[in-house]
Amino acid sequence: MIYIRSQREVLKIEASSRIVADTLALLAKEIRPGITTLRLDRLAEENIRSQNAKPAFKGYNGFPASICTSIDEQVVHGIPSKRELREGEIIGIDVGVLKDGYYGDAAFTYAVGEVDETKRLLMNVTEESLYLGIEQARAGNHLSDIGHAIQSYVESHGFSVVRTLVGHGIGTQLHEAPEIPNYGDPGRGPELKSGMCLAIEPMVNVGTFEVESLEDGWTMVTRDRKPSAHYEHTIAITDHDPLILSTRETG
Ligand code: MG
Repeated sequence: MIYIRSQREVLKIEASSRIVADTLALLAKEIRPGITTLRLDRLAEENIRSQNAKPAFKGYNGFPASICTSIDEQVVHGIPSKRELREGEIIGIDVGVLKDGYYGDAAFTYAVGEVDETKRLLMNVTEESLYLGIEQARAGNHLSDIGHAIQSYVESHGFSVVRTLVGHGIGTQLHEAPEIPNYGDPGRGPELKSGMCLAIEPMVNVGTFEVESLEDGWTMVTRDRKPSAHYEHTIAITDHDPLILSTRETG
């Protein structure tokens, strides 16, 4: 069942999502060659807890850290460690926050110093595909219109969309119905309604769409070990334009 959230509830999801956006902005200033992903994790956790909120991923199904840090061929769910970032890498950072009973969730991919043209294009296309997906999150549209917009744009640039990992509803649980694939034909699935809150999150690969998990049980990597990027926003469907909740600007 897909929950329809009241305005009061949307404001709570927004409050958590704002902390997520604030944390991502804080980390953006710290990303450079030599910093460890564990240091980024500590900074994120401190920032979240200082706002009387909790890092939503910590302990989620046993996940050991506050954020996910996924470098280059790592798609999502990378575990922060003492590994230092290197010039030319890209790092996807996923942040989740729980405050006052409601969740927020967003991700961004950052360049470490200068990156090659392929990675730069991958990042731009993936971020743009997120906004094209969000544009379809309108009352009266169907769920698959989101994924269709994402897939069409991504594949027009010769990249591929991960199939086995999807976006999700969000609210009083981190992951709620519906699952939101980043691919598919338009006009399928449930009709979208005002008050639905969704975490839309394209994961885009330079090469094959196929992914596999590493032996740590968490980190997802591309099967061909080519780079992957990930962007995510928590949004609310309204009677008008979709409202991006995980931004620092007022909606
Ligand atoms: Mg998510």
